[in-house]
Amino acid sequence: MTLSPVIEGSRLLVDYDGISSAAKARNAKTVALQLPEGLRAFASQIAGRIESAASVAVIIDSEPCFGACDIPTHLFGAADMVVQLGHTEMPSIGAMPRMYFANIFVDIDPIPVVEKAMPYLRGTVGVVTTAQHMHYLDGIVAFLRGRGIDAIYSRGDRRLGGFAQLLGCDYTSARDIEDSVTSFLYVGDGDFHPIGLVMLSDRPLIAANPMNGTVRTLDSLRDTIMKQRLTAIERAMNAKSFGVLVSTKVGQRRRALAEKLVSEVQGAGRRSSLIQSNVITPELIMSYDFDAFASTACPRVAIDDFSKYPRPVLTPVETEIALGIRKFSDFTFDQILAEQ
Ligand code: SF4
Repeated sequence: MTLSPVIEGSRLLVDYDGISSAAKARNAKTVALQLPEGLRAFASQIAGRIESAASVAVIIDSEPCFGACDIPTHLFGAADMVVQLGHTEMPSIGAMPRMYFANIFVDIDPIPVVEKAMPYLRGTVGVVTTAQHMHYLDGIVAFLRGRGIDAIYSRGDRRLGGFAQLLGCDYTSARDIEDSVTSFLYVGDGDFHPIGLVMLSDRPLIAANPMNGTVRTLDSLRDTIMKQRLTAIERAMNAKSFGVLVSTKVGQRRRALAEKLVSEVQGAGRRSSLIQSNVITPELIMSYDFDAFASTACPRVAIDDFSKYPRPVLTPVETEIALGIRKFSDFTFDQILAEQ
């Protein structure tokens, strides 16, 4: 793997040679490009780099792409190869010969911020991170062990593209070692990835951000989100109808679970229908006359977009709580796992 800046001067690295080799091996003449939101501002430069490195024509896909769960089957007829930038492959999805996942790596040494986090770590430490920082994983663990801290990590399930990785829907790399650790160290930026772990586990989590050098906990954010979830559940308790959302995205599709929820809602004497959609937005679903919605798509639809939805959007477990099938004490953060 030969990493170079995504665009000149950037500290985000990608393996353009790997993209070029994959295109040549597939004899690709046309490549479709899926970009995460944050890289759209550099789309023309990235497309140009791929075009000249691989001697291909690039088509930029304008649909949003939030994760490797999003396999753009609509592009398979339009291009010989699809390059999804910024995500690692989900092995559980199975072979997709047209797909090529080109991860983006952050070129910022995490050791200074890990050192800063050390006073807050307790006992055996479970190290977790994201695809963007996973190339530093062994260095982080070696550094901690060198300072006398027992640090471990795990593979997690087959939705994950690498060891110690967190997805916003999959925390198995942490849950697998939860019983063996006293605290977690998250190395990465943002709240999106670690917040689910804080909601799933009672082990303290210290978030160390190599991008801005901060060390913090997410306890107050967890409390805010818990209040929002309880509010949403309470508001849905009297709903007379539930639209049950099922995604068409390959890695988000939980059709059997959606059908089960429709049966449960109807069994509770309320109206319910399946609503199938590729992307779920307030504009799209709020035009329907359902009093509440149950989302079996990406778990983060219900949680991260809470304030955008005037009517409650619940995860599957939350829906069962609202229907009285489960108790409030059964609340858990929704995950999509490889073996579901
Ligand atoms: S389901 Fe959601 S959290 Fe999981 S990979 Fe897809 S976009 Fe990310």
